[in-house]
Amino acid sequence: MTACSQDSGIIFGQRKDKNGKTGSKIMNIRKLTACVLIASMVSLILPGCKKDTESTDASLVPTTVETTPTTTETTAETTSYKLYTAEEYRNAGVNELNSVPILMYHRIYGMKNSETSYTGGNVDKDGYNRTSEAFEADLRSFYEQGYRMMRLTDFVDGYIDVPFGYSPLILTFDDGIRDVVLEGWNDDGTPKFDPTCAIGILEKIKTEYPDYNVTATFFVNDTLFENGEENDKKVMKWMVDNGYDIGNHTRDHAKLGDCNAEEIEKQVGYMYKKLDSIIPGQYVNIVALPYGSPESMGPEHPEYEKIFAGTYDGFEYTTKASLLCAWTRSYSPFVRDYEYRRIRRIRGYDNGGEYWDIEDNFKQLNNGKRYISDGEPDTIVFPSSDNSSGDWLKNTFGHQVITYD
Ligand SMILES: [Zn+2]
Repeated sequence: MTACSQDSGIIFGQRKDKNGKTGSKIMNIRKLTACVLIASMVSLILPGCKKDTESTDASLVPTTVETTPTTTETTAETTSYKLYTAEEYRNAGVNELNSVPILMYHRIYGMKNSETSYTGGNVDKDGYNRTSEAFEADLRSFYEQGYRMMRLTDFVDGYIDVPFGYSPLILTFDDGIRDVVLEGWNDDGTPKFDPTCAIGILEKIKTEYPDYNVTATFFVNDTLFENGEENDKKVMKWMVDNGYDIGNHTRDHAKLGDCNAEEIEKQVGYMYKKLDSIIPGQYVNIVALPYGSPESMGPEHPEYEKIFAGTYDGFEYTTKASLLCAWTRSYSPFVRDYEYRRIRRIRGYDNGGEYWDIEDNFKQLNNGKRYISDGEPDTIVFPSSDNSSGDWLKNTFGHQVITYD
């Protein structure tokens, strides 16, 4: 369906509804001239509408379109977004139905690649742990390839805020060990990190690349970062105040696929309760499944539900997404095959550019598979041919959908 069906809601009536499903109107950019014209005329008639542009000339796009809801629903808010021409979208390769790399790292060791006996920057046979040299090189390489970081929690909410023409990149760390290694405290009360641990390197990169939007989500167990509980509590407060997120990796790093419902509540609920006592309301309600389990059980399993809602020791919790270990890029949160309970991640390891290592994954992403942003988190833009089946776009999160040919 095209957008321009004489409905002022297309441009002026967008409602912000995070649970918005498809059915939302789709605007094809070739019809923009007529859209603006019709909407302008309608706005003269409807006092609830607000218009921001006098233009009916497509040559003047990009333009900023401001949307003001026409209903009195309390969820409504005003949003605005910028439109580009089809040619500009095409030249930049904008496609927000394509895939997003969510990197899964574990421990970062202060080592050169030449100091390990494994491939590339792998510290162990399977490449779960990485040298600091390789990790730093990864970050520089992703930046050079046009990726910019964003928060995992925003991705789960369908809110992808990356500049026009750039691609989102999400970093995750499991287990806590060697992710944050505390050397002490500065006089001003800020933590002093080992410069070769994960956060030491992230802080260095943050200074060097102010437009990289450095951020990451750390999934911890009961032992937190193993710097001593009191130190870790202070560090975690600093982390959430400085652009990092903390999520749930279960109390004991349990294989949830082997647990009964009560054990799952204990593993997941205990950890949420602990996080809530340290950083109330500032942790993310996301579980990185230890060992990726229960990958095979499937979300329809009744005990799987306990990962998503339960009570432990009087503490009620909900989980809005869970992460697999996986091997490859994640689907865009807007498409049919994306499953918020089974979000896929790329293992941060080297294997000579083969078998889903970092190089292999980014080669595939850069070969027409990567999500490229239109710079506006409130819109979903893609070539109309990418949804020719009509059911590939599944969840719009209430965003305006814009297609181009
Ligand atoms: Zn783990």
